[in-house]
Amino acid sequence: MPVQRQTKQLQAVRKAIESAGRPLSIDELHDLATRDIESLGLRTVYRLVRRLQEEGEIVSVAVPGDSDRYELASVASKHHHHFHCTSCDRYFDIHGCPGGLSKLVPEGFKLEHHDLTLSGLCDACA
Ligand SMILES: [Zn+2]
Ligand SMILES: [Zn+2]
Repeated sequence: MPVQRQTKQLQAVRKAIESAGRPLSIDELHDLATRDIESLGLRTVYRLVRRLQEEGEIVSVAVPGDSDRYELASVASKHHHHFHCTSCDRYFDIHGCPGGLSKLVPEGFKLEHHDLTLSGLCDACA
């Protein structure tokens, strides 16, 4: 495949994830990126996502019982949480943390990490 075409495809995927401002699934990335390049195949999106991961630009967000979502590494590096809309199945960033969670662990335990996902309905679905 010509280098120029590959670069354009990579840019479309990168632009999709940057403009969304929330974690995206491969399908969502594919939907957005095909607005730029109509012929972009799902398999190509998978490949490009893997490449962006290897290059450290994006990271995967593990989602219980569903396929991974992806977000920018620069976003992931700042402590934040997610909101899952149970109706449209989209994930959103939450910029805030309740903190004080070490109060919840049993005595003698040491809390090292936490991961919070709130769920409900997004503004479009509520
Ligand atoms: Zn929703
Ligand atoms: Zn937190």
